Amino acid sequence: MFEVVAPGLARLGIVFVNVYALGEPGRPWLLLDADLAGSAGLIRRAVEGRFGEGARPEGILLTHGHFDHVGAARVLAEGWDVPIFAHPLEAPYLTGRSDYPPRDPTMGGAMAHMSRLMPDHGYDFSDRVRELPADGGLPALPDWRWLHTPGHTPGHVSLYREADGVLLAADAFATMNLDSWSAYLTREREFSGPSPPFTFDWGIAQQSIEKLAELEPGVVAAGHGLAMSGEDVACRLREFTAGFTPPLRGRYVASPSVAGEDGVEELPPPAPDPYARGAGASAGALVVGLMLLMLLALARRRRR
Ligand SMILES: [Zn+2]
Ligand SMILES: [Zn+2]
Repeated sequence: MFEVVAPGLARLGIVFVNVYALGEPGRPWLLLDADLAGSAGLIRRAVEGRFGEGARPEGILLTHGHFDHVGAARVLAEGWDVPIFAHPLEAPYLTGRSDYPPRDPTMGGAMAHMSRLMPDHGYDFSDRVRELPADGGLPALPDWRWLHTPGHTPGHVSLYREADGVLLAADAFATMNLDSWSAYLTREREFSGPSPPFTFDWGIAQQSIEKLAELEPGVVAAGHGLAMSGEDVACRLREFTAGFTPPLRGRYVASPSVAGEDGVEELPPPAPDPYARGAGASAGALVVGLMLLMLLALARRRRR
């Protein structure tokens, strides 16, 4: 079920990712992101719970094209017969023109280990993809604006509603520590950087975090983690931003991948991966697979 985060903003958490519904029931609304593959049924049921039977959005806005944000996009868009909105610089990965740079599982931490089993390819939703309005507005929702916040991916966008200071950061940063195994269970709220193995330009990512902190939001919701609100949120976000430094090591830390209008153009060389050889790789994948299964089982039990 969707949980209301702020007026006209509701969150649906599935396993470790969030989907949001922007807009009030009875009025035009948008779905923000489309979670993991296989979650279309769950999203549809939650949508009917909030907006009523047969409800459909004006479109699906994808903050970026990572597998955990677009998994059910095609099924939902076709079922509802609606467009998919994205930033033009994200379009190459959503229209079959480019894959993302390879994920970097060598960075350490929970997400990096799990990323060994996660895809980093692009998708082809060509017939449905439309560019976000160039004036920074959102289709059908005049109170909201989109902000280009690249670094995690080239065409990553965050959303902001200035009237009451509500920020949807998507994956520009997270509101949980993606590196900590226990955070996936405790859901402890804290500001944390973007997902390390899937962030391809740390310098630009840092600038995007700074840009969002300057908004001094009163409510902050992200692609991963629970929403944060209260008088101290803007201050906590500023403190996090001031102390933020890119990871110490990783393929994309010293030099970023370069992307253009048609997708990835240049990649730094792969980082040495101690698990990438023979038996070590199989054993590593097995352990990560078991951890993932355990997390999924626990997440399901907690939802009941
Ligand atoms: Zn992402
Ligand atoms: Zn994500």
